[in-house]
Amino acid sequence: SVALPQDVLYIIKTLNQAGHQAYIVGGCVRDTILHTQPKDWDITTSAKPEETKKLFSHTFDTGIQHGTITVVLNHTNYEVTTYRIEGEYEDCRHPSGVTFTNNLQEDLLRRDFTMNAIAYHPEEGYLDFFHGMEDIQSKTIRGVGAPALRFQEDALRMLRCVRFAAQLGFDVEEETYQALCENRELIKKISVERIHDEMDKLWLCHHEDKMPLLWQSGLLTEIDEQLANRLMQREHGLLEDLKKAPKESVLRWTIVLQDYSPQEAKAFLKKLKFDNDSLKRICILLENINQALPTLGYPLRGLISKLGLEAVSQLIILQEILRPTAPSLQTAQCLDKIIADGDCLTLKELAVDGQMLMEIGVPKGKELGKLLSLLLDFVHQNPERNQKNILLEKAREFM
Ligand code: ATP
Ligand code: MG
Repeated sequence: SVALPQDVLYIIKTLNQAGHQAYIVGGCVRDTILHTQPKDWDITTSAKPEETKKLFSHTFDTGIQHGTITVVLNHTNYEVTTYRIEGEYEDCRHPSGVTFTNNLQEDLLRRDFTMNAIAYHPEEGYLDFFHGMEDIQSKTIRGVGAPALRFQEDALRMLRCVRFAAQLGFDVEEETYQALCENRELIKKISVERIHDEMDKLWLCHHEDKMPLLWQSGLLTEIDEQLANRLMQREHGLLEDLKKAPKESVLRWTIVLQDYSPQEAKAFLKKLKFDNDSLKRICILLENINQALPTLGYPLRGLISKLGLEAVSQLIILQEILRPTAPSLQTAQCLDKIIADGDCLTLKELAVDGQMLMEIGVPKGKELGKLLSLLLDFVHQNPERNQKNILLEKAREFM
């Protein structure tokens, strides 16, 4: 039996007492069977959204047109969704409309994989019309019903399939995999944002050895042919690298794109609609990935002021993975000492500023900026120099 949180039991009981059916469903049931902690608890119910809203004091509309409302209990959100049937799918991604139903089985039938189509009730136990339990036990991802049709309805399911394989360490059942390969070009109908989200999740998964399904199936070729070809070529090395890397998105994308020039990477990341911040961070790492990192305070302080502390820390991690002969440990120790000593790293921390330099007669403009960076470099050479009198004297000398 499954230990449901008190809040979840309360939601189910409240709905039941008002005469509605209610079950937990989807990823949380699957994760409970696998003895892993669900990320969130989803409830499926015969109650219409308006009826659910009346039963709880704190709710908000999440996707009311799709039947989903969020119930808030003890500062936690629970999604409660009305049983629904999706209408005909248009263009491989959008159902033309959703219809509510009173039949749990119809709601489960619209779900993607058997492992995600099990409902559970604290008194009734599991309702498992498609043998999802068996598939979970044998670590199998199997489409509900005819997999080809399911991928044609919603092509994102193909990427979800690969991602779940890598997330759970499951194999894809043969007919489902066949259907995925045959329908791979439909992924082009899916928005880049959603493809990006799924790939982001994929690289963060624990079962790296399942990641090659993405290119072996031909799916990645439809998304980006160049990336597919490159990953195919360096598959073994890529997986070894990813296994050693922390679960952090920017770092993992940098490893995936490690043989891209910064320009190539930029074009790819733009195409996948990365936000500017991540794009910049990945490109900075790629630009510096093959550079020997300093092991001494002087050049290292300069590099930190140029790239930022986060980028330098990530470069150390990347070099440990990609260039095991590099003296990463020394760099790491040196970085720790710089942080512990609170060394001046940026212009902001410099003991003089533009105003003070103008007061001793430095003209405003380009000269001033140049002088400030000279002084910063002077301090990077020896942090003890970060004193107003020393720096003003040096400034006069530079002038
Ligand atoms: P996780 O949250 O661990 O990634 P999950 O199974 O909870 O996995 P969600 O995306 O949160 O996945 O979706 C919740 C449930 O909704 C799924 O378990 C599945 O039953 C259903 N579902 C989600 N997306 C789809 C889809 N594209 N097609 C069919 N069913 C889907
Ligand atoms: Mg979920």
